[in-house]
Amino acid sequence: MVTHTGGCHCGRIRFRVEAPARLEVADCNCSICSMSGYLHLIVPAERFTLVSGGDCLSTYTFNTGVAKHLFCATCGVKSFYVPRSHPEGISVNARCLDQGTVESLTVTPFDGREWERSRESLSAPHG
Ligand SMILES: [Zn+2]
Repeated sequence: MVTHTGGCHCGRIRFRVEAPARLEVADCNCSICSMSGYLHLIVPAERFTLVSGGDCLSTYTFNTGVAKHLFCATCGVKSFYVPRSHPEGISVNARCLDQGTVESLTVTPFDGREWERSRESLSAPHG
C-alpha cells in the first residue's frame, strides 16, 4: 500500500487515498462514465481522505439516485464519487491521481450498461 494524492483540475479539491502502487482500475461503459472517460479505483471509505475542497463539491444524481456523482463546481472535474455498487466505499478517478506513486495501471473493461445483470458475477463500479 502507498499513499496516492490527487484532485481536480483547478486544485480546489485534493484528496489522499491508500491503495497499491500497481493499480487495477475499471473502465465503465455506462452512460455517464463513457462520456467522461472515468477510470474507477474502488477503495473502502476509510482509505480515502478528502484534504480540501469539500465546499466546492456539487452533486449530480440520475436514475436510481443512489450514486452521488460529485464534481468540482469550479472546473467540473469528477475526481471521486460514491458509487451505487459500493455505497460504503469511494470510487477515485485514476485519471486524477498525481504522477509519481502509480507504478502501473491495469485497465479492465466493465459493462456498466448491463450493471444490474453483471453485478452478480463481477465486483465493479458504477452508479
Ligand atoms: Zn476544480
